[in-house]
Parts: sequence; structure tokens; C-alpha cells
Amino acid sequence: MKELAKNVFAVTGLGMYSVPVFVIEVNENELILIDTGLKKDANSILKKIKNKWGSLDKIKRIVFTHRHLDHTGGLAQMLEAIESENERAHVEIICHEEEAQYFIKDLKELKLKPTRTLKHEEYIAKGVNIKAIHNPGHTYGHICLLIEDEKLLILGDSIMYISGVLMPVFKKFHDDYKKYKKSLPKLLDYDWEYAIPSHNRPIKISREKFKKFIKKMKKKR
Ligand SMILES: [Zn+2]
Repeated sequence: MKELAKNVFAVTGLGMYSVPVFVIEVNENELILIDTGLKKDANSILKKIKNKWGSLDKIKRIVFTHRHLDHTGGLAQMLEAIESENERAHVEIICHEEEAQYFIKDLKELKLKPTRTLKHEEYIAKGVNIKAIHNPGHTYGHICLLIEDEKLLILGDSIMYISGVLMPVFKKFHDDYKKYKKSLPKLLDYDWEYAIPSHNRPIKISREKFKKFIKKMKKKR
């Protein structure tokens, strides 16, 4: 588990391509998760959360950057584990409004649906300064999460970090690659100091590094 900023933690899975689960500690009784990682990582991630916070029942909301299984695969186990502690637990499952229909379709077998959708620049919850930034292209309803108090941007799959290198997700895994390239620089319109790419071990990248990445992407076809 890595503390990225005050009350913002990353809980990592075991594999090289594993997607970390971000945990935001809203207060001592409430946690928000961002993504749930791979199915095979779910148990070890849950164990780490339980060790640190004592009870999984504190998880009140799970926000998804997008629907891909490396980000959503652990959801069923997580809900099950939360409900085994409190059968009346109600966990909000949240994604962007444009992602919802694909989420339902692609995760049909898991019978999991978002219970709430967000619009561009909408806050995740009242009194919680985390804003959804619609950054379409990787998927149509892909969002990045801006943690305003910490000036931190969680990038989701807008940029990956594998073996020490920043890179885009492979072209074939994008819903709309052109849109992706076009929407990426718009993330600079927001007030953040560090951004966190997805996959592998979480790191913080500066705006300068982000700008360099965009420059490189512009040259890419
Ligand atoms: Zn993805």
C-alpha cells in the first residue's frame, strides 16, 4: 500500500499489469474506492484494505474510470466481502453516464450494473472534492478523477506506466483512438500538480512530464 497524498492510497495487485485500487479516506467511517482491479487480485487487495481500515463496511462508493475488466474484475468479490460483513450494506457503483450502457453490456455475465452515473465535472459526493473529468477515447465514457484538495489527477487508462515507461494503451484496446488523442491535452485545463498513470506500480508524474508525453503522442499516428 502506498500513500500518494493525504488520505489517498494505492493498493496494488500482484502482477506486472495489475491495476491498483485507489482508496480515498473521506473520514474514519467512509472510504471511496476508485476501480477494483483484476479479479485475481481482489482477495489480496481486500485483505490489505481490511488490515489498514479494520472493516470493509466503510466502503460506501466505488467509482470506475471505465468498464474494462482489468479495472472492474474484482467488483463482484468486493461486494460479496462487504456484504458478508454487513448484509444491509449499500455500495454505490458509479461510472460516467456514457460508460453505463457499455458497462452493463460488457459485464452482463457478472450481473453488475452501475447504480449511479456522473456527468462531466460532477463531484462524486457532497462534501467530497473529487471531480469526474470526462476524458473520452480510451472508452467512450472514460473518466479521470481530480482530487482537488491534493491537486492530484488519477488518470485511469489515459496513460499507462509499465516497467518505468509512460505509454498509451495499445491502439486496439481503445474505443476511439482519434478521440483519445484529442482529449488527452484537455487534462491540462485543470489545476493539478501530479497525475497518476494506471497499471503496474503507482507513481506520480509532474505536469512537465505529462506535457512531454503529449508532445510524443502528437507525433504518433
Ligand atoms: Zn482500459
